[in-house]
Amino acid sequence: MGKKSKVLIVDDERIERTALGAILKEHYEIREAADGKEAFELLSGASEEIAAVILDIVMPEYDGYYFLERYRASDMYQEIPVIMATVEDDAAVEKRCLELGAWDFIGKPYDPDIIRFRIRNVIEHSQLQISRELKYRAEFDVLTGIYNKSRMFQATSDIVRRYKDKKFAFIRMDIEKFQLINSFFGMDEGDRLLKYIAYLLTKEAQGREEIVYGRIEADIFGICMPYKEQQELLDFTGRLRERLGKYQLEFDIVPIFGIYLIEERSVSPNHMYDRANLAAKHCKGNYIRNYAFYTRRMSEEIEKEQRIVNSMKHALEDEQFVLYLQPKYELSDNQVAGAEVLVRWQNRDRGMVSPGEFIPVFERNGFITKLDCYVWEKTCMMLRRWLDEGKNPRPVSVNLSRVSLYNPKLVETICGLVEKYNIPRYLFQLELTESAYTSNPKVVQETMQCLQNEGFSILMDDFGSGYSSLNVLKDIDVDVLKMDMRFLSDTDKRRRGENILMSVVRMAKWLNMPVVAEGVERREQADFLRSIGCEYVQGFYFAKPMPVEDYEKLVFTGTPEASGGGKAAKTDSPWSLDSRIEELFLKLPQGVAVYEYSGNQIKIVRINDAYYNVCGGDTITEGKRRLFTIDRRYESRMLDAFRQAVDTKQPVDCEFLWDDEAAGRVDWFHLELHYMKQDGEKHVLYGILTNITQQKELDRELQKYGMALS
Ligand code: C2E
Ligand code: MG
Ligand code: MG
Repeated sequence: MGKKSKVLIVDDERIERTALGAILKEHYEIREAADGKEAFELLSGASEEIAAVILDIVMPEYDGYYFLERYRASDMYQEIPVIMATVEDDAAVEKRCLELGAWDFIGKPYDPDIIRFRIRNVIEHSQLQISRELKYRAEFDVLTGIYNKSRMFQATSDIVRRYKDKKFAFIRMDIEKFQLINSFFGMDEGDRLLKYIAYLLTKEAQGREEIVYGRIEADIFGICMPYKEQQELLDFTGRLRERLGKYQLEFDIVPIFGIYLIEERSVSPNHMYDRANLAAKHCKGNYIRNYAFYTRRMSEEIEKEQRIVNSMKHALEDEQFVLYLQPKYELSDNQVAGAEVLVRWQNRDRGMVSPGEFIPVFERNGFITKLDCYVWEKTCMMLRRWLDEGKNPRPVSVNLSRVSLYNPKLVETICGLVEKYNIPRYLFQLELTESAYTSNPKVVQETMQCLQNEGFSILMDDFGSGYSSLNVLKDIDVDVLKMDMRFLSDTDKRRRGENILMSVVRMAKWLNMPVVAEGVERREQADFLRSIGCEYVQGFYFAKPMPVEDYEKLVFTGTPEASGGGKAAKTDSPWSLDSRIEELFLKLPQGVAVYEYSGNQIKIVRINDAYYNVCGGDTITEGKRRLFTIDRRYESRMLDAFRQAVDTKQPVDCEFLWDDEAAGRVDWFHLELHYMKQDGEKHVLYGILTNITQQKELDRELQKYGMALS
């Protein structure tokens, strides 16, 4: 026999304790307590592992009943049996003790053999129960009653080995945004759903011993099942999705399935799970396709990421990260208004790597904070050099990763840098992506406020990437808005895109917030932006991100105007206005448009706000459509008017009808054309547009009576 078990004797009579101890000490180690309180303290002490308690009922103050009551409420109750020592056969006393959770009785005076048997029995019994419990906990999930992770993995190994002639798949299942269920409806509701999932899996597996399943952790379940065709697996996932879809909760419960088709049986279940996990990551957030099969490429991506992680620290020390600058232009005069700093990785083996490949990896592992600091410092050094060289630099903006926002020393770091290099703060601007605002508005607002108080301008990057509504604009205190054209490039929805752009620009104007349109790739986009009063642009049409030397050549030597496409824009736009006239033009109460006319073609190049109201259309496209899908009969009249204005350089009036069948409207317009100037082949004119439908109707009424006014 190994170590002796310990028995605690609780009795206020010392003589009783000694008598009982004498009977038991051969087989047990004895501990003694003079009342319930002392016993409780002894049991609660971590050092003593008591196997059973013998408890006297009648004790001063803290008696046996009281002890039992408290004891039953404690964790120990499940494990350590209590035997009551009673003086006589009293059924009422015994009943009460049993009710309070006593395991057995021994009567005084003590019969040594009976006592030893009873004690032995309860101890054996309780330990059996403990070991059963432990075994259960080692294999089953306590909440759902199905296999836990280790047992499920073991069972997976077993069935895959046993049914060698069958193909198996390992499926990882979890619930999209499960943590929201917990926070919206409470943990109990979350638990209820988990139990229901376990129930569904149990039903699916009923009568099929070659299916194993279990709860891996939290809301993640694992299933290993045989299949002949992949469709069987999709039927299975489809059934679960359908049943969960009907689950009674005001929440769209979407299960996500990552499926690994087990090709090599030697792969450990841990690896099977990892692969199913990778597959699942590919369909997170995709409500339409809630499953994905594992492919080799997924592992390759991870390996690629690992290579980036392995070399990043060295790359930073080795100064492999270099700054590129992309100019921003002022649309009214095509002059460079500043630049955005964009980092590139000049990798020794792979050449120039763009940030799209490594920034997301760095954001995941936190390295981005180091890279951000590096880029900011290099930017400060560059600005210092320009200032020392007597140049007159425009502001440059650096990107601020959302991860850097959580750096409590962020403001200190940035201030420290600009102070170290003595950079005027207006030259160093910060871009923060829109999604950072929505994911944690409070932290962002506070940090941004601190930076603004320190004199830095904040640009909201990627506005329109789909996270916030226009309303957010008024709640967020940024200095400049960067609106990305690429989020609106879908041609089918062009009109919608134009609407959004226009609304953003208008709203930003009300809020006195300059707008930079980013990702401008085509001339039409530039024209459109100009016509809606957007001030700044950045994009390939004007200039691509370039090495610092190229930017220096562009801005510090010669004219810093838009190159390539941008230059064309300049010569193509003789009607560019200076900013005050621009303001005036936009605010004029009359609808005004600027036109280019050449070779019998009329093109609208600028429109002011009132023009939309006159046309009745809400968008520029609508405005243009209204003007140029005029009734056929009036087309030539319009062209004649333009020709006449060009020939005579005098104002010309013209009236035309617009018949909008779709809207069931017929409108009459009056256009007063004025010649402005000639630009190569083209003539530039402006026109004042008035809707004269009401006047025309009045005319018609009066004509009936032979009283036409005009
Ligand atoms: P971003 O801050 O929105 O930067 C603009 C991105 O749009 C740049 O991509 C730029 O090259 C690209 N771009 C500009 N005009 C056009 C255009 O007309 N068409 C198209 N298709 N693209 C255009 P890039 O340099 O690849 O950078 C991607 C993103 O990586 C940046 O988006 C920014 O979020 C991040 N990033 C770049 N440098 C840094 C950095 O130093 N720190 C941090 N934290 N993030 C950076
Ligand atoms: Mg940016
Ligand atoms: Mg951007």
